[in-house]
Amino acid sequence: MQFFAKKIKNSQYYSLGGLKMFEKKYYEIKLESVGGMGANLCGKLLGELGAMYLGFDSQSFASYGSEKRGSPVKSFIRWSKEKININSPITNPDVLGVFYEHILTKKGSLNGISDKTVVVINTDKDPDYVSNHLKVRKIYTIDCTKLMMETKSRLNMIMFGAIIKAIGFVKLEDCEKLVKETIGKKYPNLLEVNLTGLRRGYFDVQMKEFDVPESYVHQEVKQKWGYENAPLGGINPQIGSSVVNELSATRDGYIPLFIPERCIQCVLCDITCPDMVFQFREGEYKGRKMMVNHGPDYHHCKGCMRCVEICPSEALVAGVEKEHQNALYGKRNFDLIVDELEYETQGASSWITSESFYEREKVDGGIR
Ligand code: SF4
Ligand code: SF4
Repeated sequence: MQFFAKKIKNSQYYSLGGLKMFEKKYYEIKLESVGGMGANLCGKLLGELGAMYLGFDSQSFASYGSEKRGSPVKSFIRWSKEKININSPITNPDVLGVFYEHILTKKGSLNGISDKTVVVINTDKDPDYVSNHLKVRKIYTIDCTKLMMETKSRLNMIMFGAIIKAIGFVKLEDCEKLVKETIGKKYPNLLEVNLTGLRRGYFDVQMKEFDVPESYVHQEVKQKWGYENAPLGGINPQIGSSVVNELSATRDGYIPLFIPERCIQCVLCDITCPDMVFQFREGEYKGRKMMVNHGPDYHHCKGCMRCVEICPSEALVAGVEKEHQNALYGKRNFDLIVDELEYETQGASSWITSESFYEREKVDGGIR
């Protein structure tokens, strides 16, 4: 989605220091989230804010998986004093908004951030704690879960408030007007709680500055081939790619716990699970030789809890992930090459040419 600036530039922002932020042509914001947390809407609001209230050319778009809920979501917002003539995803954000702290365990989620990137993260930890893991100068932390309970607001409104505070040259009143014009018109009965969430995000966010080495650019995962250089006719060789993908970061606090004694081997969980998480092996059940359920490989489980809903014998029950850390390393996928952990390093979205499909050769960040 691309928005265009008002003809008359909104000069108040320039005096607020907005232009000083534009050392490069674009001011760029990236949001890392999982489906269902509202990062897409937050990105759209930031996009409209840039065009309608800051007088910039503005762009916002998102990428997410087919499941909508539970899968990783990235939202990109780009502002500029000049015409925006690129549509590429943001690789070096000025501001990184992390809606869900576990997303940081996913390879590549911190790619492209530098010491100058302002990081806003939803966590119950303080900036000092986060700085042990993240080497950036400015860290903002906000406990959205706690504030959601207190205000009944949605997470994205609280993050929206925290992010505009971190940006530094946006006025809270303008964001309030924007929320009234957009969400307020669509859902008038939810306007007050959304405004409360926005304000609490703005005022409750904690910030601390740290000394870090200059020009540090975090680049955890380098893809050999991407949208710029993938060969024509390239394909993704990982059919049903989520089966090889590490999905633990998309869980939101709960895992399915498997109680083998209760399992009646009906395989409903296996049919229902969108990510082929359940591991079956030859064995015996009630004196009969058959494939027997050994429970989930949590490496690939995104915590959607559909298996818990479908299981007829309560052999699968919901558990709080923090309380069952040991279970997470129990069963690995028998069908994948676990010894070499090839599928982990390879990544699910590696590209190969169709001609070389059967001649896989590992290269840096992918296969060819
Ligand atoms: S919660 Fe159950 S259905 Fe959902 S991904 Fe995990 S194992 Fe599969
Ligand atoms: S749905 Fe429940 S009873 Fe059926 S195989 Fe899965 S765990 Fe066992």
